[in-house]
Amino acid sequence: MTYTGNGYSKERDLSRELVRFGRWLSRIGFTPGTSGNLSVRLSPDRILATPTGCSKALLKAEDMVTVDLAGRQLSGSKKVTSEIGMHLAIYHARADVNAVVHAHPPIATGFACTGRALDEPLCAEAVMTIGPVPLAPYATTGTDNLAASLAHLIPAHSAILMANHGAVTYGDSLLDAFLKMETVEHSAHICLVAHQLGSARPLEPLAISDLLEAKERYARNMH
Ligand SMILES: [Zn+2]
Repeated sequence: MTYTGNGYSKERDLSRELVRFGRWLSRIGFTPGTSGNLSVRLSPDRILATPTGCSKALLKAEDMVTVDLAGRQLSGSKKVTSEIGMHLAIYHARADVNAVVHAHPPIATGFACTGRALDEPLCAEAVMTIGPVPLAPYATTGTDNLAASLAHLIPAHSAILMANHGAVTYGDSLLDAFLKMETVEHSAHICLVAHQLGSARPLEPLAISDLLEAKERYARNMH
Protein backbone atom coordinates (compact mmCIF):
# COMPACT_ATOMS: atom_id res chain seq x y z
CA MET A 1 0.00 0.00 0.00
CA THR A 2 1.27 3.46 -0.83
CA TYR A 3 0.48 6.59 1.05
CA THR A 4 0.50 10.17 0.02
CA GLY A 5 2.18 12.46 2.55
CA ASN A 6 -0.87 13.24 4.70
CA GLY A 7 -2.24 9.70 4.77
CA TYR A 8 1.06 8.36 6.03
CA SER A 9 1.47 10.92 8.79
CA LYS A 10 -2.15 10.45 9.92
CA GLU A 11 -1.57 6.70 10.25
CA ARG A 12 1.69 7.31 12.12
CA ASP A 13 0.07 9.84 14.47
CA LEU A 14 -2.91 7.59 15.21
CA SER A 15 -0.60 4.59 15.75
CA ARG A 16 1.20 6.64 18.39
CA GLU A 17 -2.13 7.57 19.97
CA LEU A 18 -3.05 3.87 20.16
CA VAL A 19 0.28 3.21 21.90
CA ARG A 20 -0.32 6.08 24.31
CA PHE A 21 -3.84 5.07 25.33
CA GLY A 22 -2.89 1.36 25.44
CA ARG A 23 -0.16 2.19 27.97
CA TRP A 24 -2.53 4.40 29.92
CA LEU A 25 -5.16 1.64 30.15
CA SER A 26 -2.46 -0.78 31.19
CA ARG A 27 -1.06 1.54 33.86
CA ILE A 28 -4.44 1.87 35.57
CA GLY A 29 -5.03 -1.89 35.54
CA PHE A 30 -7.81 -2.02 32.94
CA THR A 31 -6.06 -4.46 30.52
CA PRO A 32 -4.23 -7.14 32.51
CA GLY A 33 -2.32 -9.82 30.57
CA THR A 34 -2.99 -9.38 26.88
CA SER A 35 -6.63 -8.34 27.36
CA GLY A 36 -8.26 -5.28 25.86
CA ASN A 37 -7.99 -3.69 22.45
CA LEU A 38 -8.30 -0.28 20.84
CA SER A 39 -9.08 1.01 17.39
CA VAL A 40 -9.46 4.27 15.55
CA ARG A 41 -11.01 5.27 12.21
CA LEU A 42 -8.27 6.05 9.71
CA SER A 43 -10.64 6.95 6.85
CA PRO A 44 -14.36 6.30 6.23
CA ASP A 45 -13.63 2.66 5.35
CA ARG A 46 -10.33 1.84 7.07
CA ILE A 47 -9.72 1.08 10.75
CA LEU A 48 -6.38 1.09 12.56
CA ALA A 49 -6.36 -1.39 15.46
CA THR A 50 -4.17 -3.07 18.06
CA PRO A 51 -2.92 -6.60 17.26
CA THR A 52 -3.96 -9.79 19.01
CA GLY A 53 -2.02 -11.31 21.91
CA CYS A 54 0.00 -8.26 22.98
CA SER A 55 0.34 -6.56 26.35
CA LYS A 56 -1.02 -3.02 26.01
CA ALA A 57 1.96 -1.87 28.08
CA LEU A 58 4.46 -3.07 25.45
CA LEU A 59 2.77 -2.05 22.19
CA LYS A 60 4.79 -0.20 19.57
CA ALA A 61 3.41 2.03 16.82
CA GLU A 62 4.65 -0.41 14.15
CA ASP A 63 2.59 -3.24 15.73
CA MET A 64 -0.71 -1.69 14.60
CA VAL A 65 -2.73 -3.23 11.79
CA THR A 66 -5.30 -1.83 9.37
CA VAL A 67 -8.52 -3.55 8.33
CA ASP A 68 -11.42 -2.59 6.10
CA LEU A 69 -14.98 -2.43 7.42
CA ALA A 70 -15.48 -6.10 6.50
CA GLY A 71 -12.56 -7.01 8.79
CA ARG A 72 -10.13 -7.93 6.00
CA GLN A 73 -6.57 -7.12 7.07
CA LEU A 74 -4.97 -4.55 4.75
CA SER A 75 -1.60 -4.03 6.42
CA GLY A 76 0.51 -4.91 9.43
CA SER A 77 2.88 -7.78 10.21
CA LYS A 78 0.88 -8.95 13.23
CA LYS A 79 -2.65 -10.33 13.24
CA VAL A 80 -5.50 -8.01 14.15
CA THR A 81 -7.26 -8.44 17.52
CA SER A 82 -9.74 -11.33 17.57
CA GLU A 83 -12.34 -8.91 18.96
CA ILE A 84 -12.27 -6.66 15.87
CA GLY A 85 -15.85 -7.75 15.02
CA MET A 86 -17.13 -5.84 18.06
CA HIS A 87 -15.29 -2.69 16.93
CA LEU A 88 -16.57 -3.01 13.36
CA ALA A 89 -20.18 -3.45 14.53
CA ILE A 90 -19.83 -0.09 16.29
CA TYR A 91 -18.23 1.69 13.30
CA HIS A 92 -20.95 0.28 11.02
CA ALA A 93 -23.78 1.43 13.26
CA ARG A 94 -22.36 4.82 14.22
CA ALA A 95 -20.91 7.08 11.54
CA ASP A 96 -20.16 9.62 14.31
CA VAL A 97 -17.78 7.23 16.09
CA ASN A 98 -14.05 7.54 15.39
CA ALA A 99 -12.57 5.39 18.17
CA VAL A 100 -13.41 2.30 20.23
CA VAL A 101 -11.83 1.13 23.50
CA HIS A 102 -12.43 -2.33 24.95
CA ALA A 103 -11.04 -3.19 28.39
CA HIS A 104 -11.63 -5.30 31.49
CA PRO A 105 -11.68 -2.71 34.32
CA PRO A 106 -12.07 -4.85 37.45
CA ILE A 107 -14.99 -3.24 39.28
CA ALA A 108 -17.14 -2.60 36.20
CA THR A 109 -16.33 -6.14 35.05
CA GLY A 110 -17.41 -7.36 38.50
CA PHE A 111 -20.81 -5.77 37.84
CA ALA A 112 -20.88 -7.48 34.41
CA CYS A 113 -20.04 -10.80 36.09
CA THR A 114 -22.96 -10.50 38.50
CA GLY A 115 -25.47 -9.64 35.79
CA ARG A 116 -25.75 -5.98 36.78
CA ALA A 117 -25.96 -2.96 34.51
CA LEU A 118 -24.63 0.40 35.70
CA ASP A 119 -27.96 2.11 35.31
CA GLU A 120 -28.58 3.59 38.73
CA PRO A 121 -28.31 7.40 38.64
CA LEU A 122 -26.04 7.86 41.65
CA CYS A 123 -23.32 10.11 40.33
CA ALA A 124 -24.15 13.46 38.71
CA GLU A 125 -21.00 13.41 36.58
CA ALA A 126 -21.81 9.97 35.11
CA VAL A 127 -25.37 11.06 34.27
CA MET A 128 -23.91 13.91 32.21
CA THR A 129 -21.12 11.96 30.51
CA ILE A 130 -21.90 8.29 29.89
CA GLY A 131 -25.55 8.03 31.01
CA PRO A 132 -26.94 4.64 32.01
CA VAL A 133 -24.55 1.83 31.03
CA PRO A 134 -26.51 -1.25 29.89
CA LEU A 135 -25.42 -4.88 30.17
CA ALA A 136 -25.17 -6.88 26.93
CA PRO A 137 -25.92 -10.62 27.21
CA TYR A 138 -22.99 -13.03 27.38
CA ALA A 139 -21.36 -14.08 24.10
CA THR A 140 -18.11 -15.92 23.36
CA THR A 141 -15.18 -13.62 22.66
CA GLY A 142 -13.79 -13.65 19.13
CA THR A 143 -17.08 -14.84 17.57
CA ASP A 144 -19.76 -13.03 15.56
CA ASN A 145 -22.08 -13.57 18.54
CA LEU A 146 -20.15 -10.94 20.50
CA ALA A 147 -20.95 -8.18 18.00
CA ALA A 148 -24.54 -9.46 17.72
CA SER A 149 -24.98 -9.29 21.51
CA LEU A 150 -24.17 -5.55 21.43
CA ALA A 151 -26.06 -4.58 18.27
CA HIS A 152 -29.33 -3.44 19.88
CA LEU A 153 -27.47 -1.27 22.43
CA ILE A 154 -24.95 0.48 20.16
CA PRO A 155 -27.20 3.23 18.69
CA ALA A 156 -28.39 4.73 21.99
CA HIS A 157 -25.29 4.28 24.19
CA SER A 158 -21.59 5.08 24.15
CA ALA A 159 -20.58 2.72 26.98
CA ILE A 160 -21.73 -0.89 27.33
CA LEU A 161 -20.94 -3.64 29.85
CA MET A 162 -20.54 -7.12 28.40
CA ALA A 163 -21.73 -9.96 30.66
CA ASN A 164 -18.91 -12.03 32.23
CA HIS A 165 -16.37 -10.16 30.10
CA GLY A 166 -15.70 -6.42 30.35
CA ALA A 167 -16.73 -3.10 28.86
CA VAL A 168 -16.61 -1.22 25.58
CA THR A 169 -16.76 2.55 25.09
CA TYR A 170 -16.63 4.68 21.96
CA GLY A 171 -16.64 8.29 20.90
CA ASP A 172 -15.36 10.90 18.50
CA SER A 173 -11.68 10.38 19.46
CA LEU A 174 -9.47 7.94 21.35
CA LEU A 175 -9.30 10.39 24.23
CA ASP A 176 -13.10 10.58 24.36
CA ALA A 177 -13.48 6.76 24.31
CA PHE A 178 -10.72 6.40 26.94
CA LEU A 179 -12.28 8.99 29.28
CA LYS A 180 -15.62 7.19 29.01
CA MET A 181 -13.93 3.91 30.01
CA GLU A 182 -12.37 5.66 33.00
CA THR A 183 -15.80 7.07 33.95
CA VAL A 184 -17.44 3.63 33.64
CA GLU A 185 -14.98 2.19 36.16
CA HIS A 186 -15.26 5.20 38.46
CA SER A 187 -19.08 4.95 38.42
CA ALA A 188 -18.88 1.22 39.19
CA HIS A 189 -16.55 1.98 42.09
CA ILE A 190 -18.87 4.65 43.51
CA CYS A 191 -21.92 2.40 43.07
CA LEU A 192 -20.11 -0.42 44.89
CA VAL A 193 -19.08 1.83 47.79
CA ALA A 194 -22.54 3.42 48.05
CA HIS A 195 -24.15 -0.01 48.31
CA GLN A 196 -21.53 -1.23 50.77
CA LEU A 197 -22.37 1.77 52.94
CA GLY A 198 -25.95 0.56 52.69
CA SER A 199 -27.89 3.72 51.97
CA ALA A 200 -27.33 4.58 48.29
CA ARG A 201 -29.57 7.49 47.29
CA PRO A 202 -30.18 7.77 43.54
CA LEU A 203 -30.72 11.23 42.05
CA GLU A 204 -34.36 12.36 41.82
CA PRO A 205 -35.95 12.50 38.30
CA LEU A 206 -36.03 16.31 38.42
CA ALA A 207 -32.31 16.48 39.25
CA ILE A 208 -31.62 14.13 36.33
CA SER A 209 -33.59 16.22 33.85
CA ASP A 210 -31.75 19.35 35.07
CA LEU A 211 -28.42 17.58 34.48
CA LEU A 212 -29.46 16.49 31.00
CA GLU A 213 -30.52 20.05 30.19
CA ALA A 214 -27.16 21.34 31.42
CA LYS A 215 -25.43 18.71 29.27
CA GLU A 216 -27.25 19.95 26.16
CA ARG A 217 -26.35 23.53 27.03
CA TYR A 218 -22.64 22.64 27.34
CA ALA A 219 -22.76 20.70 24.06
CA ARG A 220 -24.33 23.71 22.28
CA ASN A 221 -21.67 26.05 23.66
CA MET A 222 -18.86 23.77 22.51
CA HIS A 223 -20.03 23.77 18.88
ZN1 LIG B 1 -12.27 -8.77 25.95
